Amino acid sequence: MLAIIHATLVLTDRLQPESFVTAENGVITGFGAMKDCPDLSGAEVYDAKGLFVGPGLVDIHCHAGCGIWFYEDPEKAAAALLKNGTTTVLPTLYFSMTKDELVENFAVIKAAMHTGKTPNVAGFYTEAPYMNPKLGCDRESNPWKGPVRREDYMPVLEAAGEDAKVWVVAPERENIEEFVKDAKKINPSVRFAVGHSEATPCEIEALMPYGLCIGTHHTNATGTLPKYPECRGVCVDECVWYHDEIYAEIISDRMGIHVDPYMQRLVRKIKGDDRVILISDACVFDGPVPETGDYEGATDILFDWAGEIAGSKLLLLQAAKNFSKHTGAEMPEIFKMASKNPADATGFTDRGEIKTGKRADLIVIDGEYELKQVVFEGKLIEA
Ligand SMILES: [Zn+2]
Repeated sequence: MLAIIHATLVLTDRLQPESFVTAENGVITGFGAMKDCPDLSGAEVYDAKGLFVGPGLVDIHCHAGCGIWFYEDPEKAAAALLKNGTTTVLPTLYFSMTKDELVENFAVIKAAMHTGKTPNVAGFYTEAPYMNPKLGCDRESNPWKGPVRREDYMPVLEAAGEDAKVWVVAPERENIEEFVKDAKKINPSVRFAVGHSEATPCEIEALMPYGLCIGTHHTNATGTLPKYPECRGVCVDECVWYHDEIYAEIISDRMGIHVDPYMQRLVRKIKGDDRVILISDACVFDGPVPETGDYEGATDILFDWAGEIAGSKLLLLQAAKNFSKHTGAEMPEIFKMASKNPADATGFTDRGEIKTGKRADLIVIDGEYELKQVVFEGKLIEA
């Protein structure tokens, strides 16, 4: 048994100081006030000395771990993230990859997953194949800009198999419904996200019965549709706001460049603390910082060689801290957005909160979101 004592527990609705949490066989077996702590003889004891203990972080949209693309070295990428508090991650392959590359890269990551080398990897969140090439997706050189065709996409769906947890789609692509139906046949519990898209609400709503429930990097590459001159139209973000069941992913960098701090507060207000998902969108692009645009100090975001913003080098814990600064959200809410909400949205209801019976993935942090200790499946991991 592992016991963490003298902890300030971060529960979904409150902070609970001077508490304990116990774990055995990988799951949480109890928690409560120190005065009710069970006999700990024989247990491994970690004294949190008043620090905050929350659920391990769940990053559902992450291309790389600490500067390593998942498809290049899944084991190293996953280990780097685990050390930094990301106890569940969905590696993300993306739109620039051809059919053969996607098939091969899925195989590389699956080989690591299914031999126990990447225990915190829980499946795939894929930003491919059918995005809208106009919206941050390689435009003319996008390998998937042609028609949506079974013979092209089936090998990709089959390569991901049941490990596919989320497919991002641009609902405006012709015949996308066929792709969505086939993806569901392979994994009936798969979810869909709308991203790199300028779909109308109507086009998005058509896919909701199949399980579209996430807005990919909300307000980034989500299009605008001015219907009449001088009149604001409605597009992807407005549809995400409208539907309570759709989660909004936010990349919260330090300067608020991906999503302006005011917009982060607005999205939080509209969607509520149960429907915001913090993501890292971590990548390894190395384009130069463009001279135009006010990017001074934005050291945690990345650019491609076309000078466009291309993901981040954030860890999810840093994004969590940034979001708390930008919006004033407190720790219980922040942990929902970085752990419970992403777990719920992707079907991992066995984790994401401190509750008896949930997976014993925990992190210990101080009040500034500095990581002190990681617990993975009930075991202390060196941070
Ligand atoms: Zn993207």
